[in-house]
Amino acid sequence: MDSPKFLRRAEKKLKRMQKALSRCEKGSKNRAKARKKAARQHAKVADRRRDWHHKESTKIIRESQAVYVEDLAVSGLGRTRLAKSVHDAGWSAVVTMLEYKAAKHGRYFGRIGRFEPTSQVCSTCGIKDGPKPVSVRQWTCGDCGTVHDRDINAARNVLAAGRADRPNLWSAGKTGPRPGTAP
Ligand SMILES: [Zn+2]
Repeated sequence: MDSPKFLRRAEKKLKRMQKALSRCEKGSKNRAKARKKAARQHAKVADRRRDWHHKESTKIIRESQAVYVEDLAVSGLGRTRLAKSVHDAGWSAVVTMLEYKAAKHGRYFGRIGRFEPTSQVCSTCGIKDGPKPVSVRQWTCGDCGTVHDRDINAARNVLAAGRADRPNLWSAGKTGPRPGTAP
């Protein structure tokens, strides 16, 4: 889920305003003005991001019978770079939207635990190719030679794990229709 251009632009503008604010002399009128401006832009970015999350999550739920998400356990990531990017993307907000929209529209919703190394396993041949830094966006499987987009490959693994896990989730009393009633 890449953020749209208008959102990235608004975020860039906010960063510029925050920089300008930090350059203003403390207690000055200009600083007060710059702070107000940055606060307004901050609210604008938050609004737009929320709108976009709503649009995306509604689209996903409309187009799918079942939705599986990887539980990124954001708190466990602490202050790592990955945690920051997860927070910035509002991942937990999106997961919450997906969950209640799935319930509302009668879609299946399942979470995949952290123990699945979804970004390390080749979704084509299933070999575990080893850990990769977050900066690696594309990689080639050392075994079968498939070229993977990191996120798409991980999403495929999440989907496969979700499907395999679904009867267990259901019998464990999780929400969703009985297995087999939806594709
Ligand atoms: Zn492979």
